[in-house]
Amino acid sequence: MNNSDNIYSLAVSGVQKLVPYTPGKPIAELERELGLTQIIKLASNENPLGPGGKALAAIQASLADLALYPDGNGFDLKFALSEKYALDMSQVTLGNGSNEILELVARAFLTPGLEVIFSQYAFAVYPLVTQAVGATAVVAPALNYGHDLDAMLERVNDKTRLIFIANPNNPTGTLLAHDRLQAFLQALPDTCVCVLDEAYCEFVGNKAAGDSIAWLKDHPNLLITRTFSKAYGLAGLRIGYGLSSPQLADILNRVRQPFNNNLLALAAAAAALTDIEHLQNTLACNSQGMQLITEGFKNLGLEWVVSAGNFVLVDLKMPALPIYEALLRKGVIVRPVGVYDLPNHLRITIGTPTENRLFLQALTEVMSS
Ligand SMILES: *Cc1c(COP(=O)(O)O)cnc(C)c1O
Repeated sequence: MNNSDNIYSLAVSGVQKLVPYTPGKPIAELERELGLTQIIKLASNENPLGPGGKALAAIQASLADLALYPDGNGFDLKFALSEKYALDMSQVTLGNGSNEILELVARAFLTPGLEVIFSQYAFAVYPLVTQAVGATAVVAPALNYGHDLDAMLERVNDKTRLIFIANPNNPTGTLLAHDRLQAFLQALPDTCVCVLDEAYCEFVGNKAAGDSIAWLKDHPNLLITRTFSKAYGLAGLRIGYGLSSPQLADILNRVRQPFNNNLLALAAAAAALTDIEHLQNTLACNSQGMQLITEGFKNLGLEWVVSAGNFVLVDLKMPALPIYEALLRKGVIVRPVGVYDLPNHLRITIGTPTENRLFLQALTEVMSS
């Protein structure tokens, strides 16, 4: 008897129909496929300047310790984060990327029968972690590509256990006003855990003029997630964190693996927090690049969604996949967003000045042929 398809029917029901997350195309893959060498990747919202010098030095210094297990409690990094945000160390949860925190919260709080609310066009990981644990996804329609907090609140009922909000949102780059978000939290029943995903918060700067961390004091059901993958340039190491009440952190801590953060990531992240100069260079590079790329869109007569992140969603007003593929043939990897129900849009990560110019040149050529 050899029925290998039968094994699918043995998986838990959410997993049977699960379609895994599609990451941005890796540079090496395009190299293999097309034999190109000069490839630029503006597809995964990575930092075009790379990691900072302090993170690299910390990695170098930690190499000798690789035979040892990492600190399972991540003391140094938790301490640095708690100092930075004036929180207690017990309020910090470390994750193998902030993605892991999203998964931990789903595993710790959801069962089949419970509901999870997130917005149309919100980050694709929310439906995945919901489905994997067999909970029910409730999608609130977007408002101008962003979250409609009223529509989300209207969908809260006795079965709602979790709400995901990405601010700024990926892939749209939209930003919620601080006071609107605060009012939303106040209106939310405390039987509902609210995840505020701030993977791009460093890029927002003064535009948001507000500090979500101050809300933790009044909302034991709030979990703020942040990451070293984007502004800090450490996506390859996989390190992110959650900030919450000590109680919520304690719950997440019960379901995580004992050594979920690797030794190099812990050392690099703590060092990266002290590298103010690299962060400033990153933010300056991003705002100049955003200016250049949106100017280029304007010259091509294209519309885009105003973005608070390190990427921008452009509306091509025609199917985006052929344009995406034509850009690939020119060695430029961007991100198609058909999985988000945005078949005419592409998401472009802001690159270095050279990458931005090469992208605009390639796009201009592709759009005119
Ligand atoms: C990139 C991203 C993350 C998580 O990235 P990690 O590398 O797992 O930290 C989380 N949320 C959003 C909205 C993102 O775009």
